[in-house]
Amino acid sequence: MTPMRSCIGCRTVKPVDAMVRICLNEDGRLRASAESQGRGAWICKTEVCFKAASSKGRLARALKAEPLLEVQNQISTVYEELGF
Ligand SMILES: [Zn+2]
Repeated sequence: MTPMRSCIGCRTVKPVDAMVRICLNEDGRLRASAESQGRGAWICKTEVCFKAASSKGRLARALKAEPLLEVQNQISTVYEELGF
């Protein structure tokens, strides 16, 4: 059975197939990885959810990241790299 996760953008619980896990590396860079250790946040593979996660500080809060602004700025880069 596919695991279910809650999206930090729309708060909907969905199968992980439809989502991306965003992690904060030790070097302070965000990356998309389902396997990375440590704290991660799940977001639907949609622009709407990435925008919601980035615009309201939800991603930084979910990752307990500091400084908040730097993490928020990186999410659009991650989104572009994923290219859904
Ligand atoms: Zn979502």
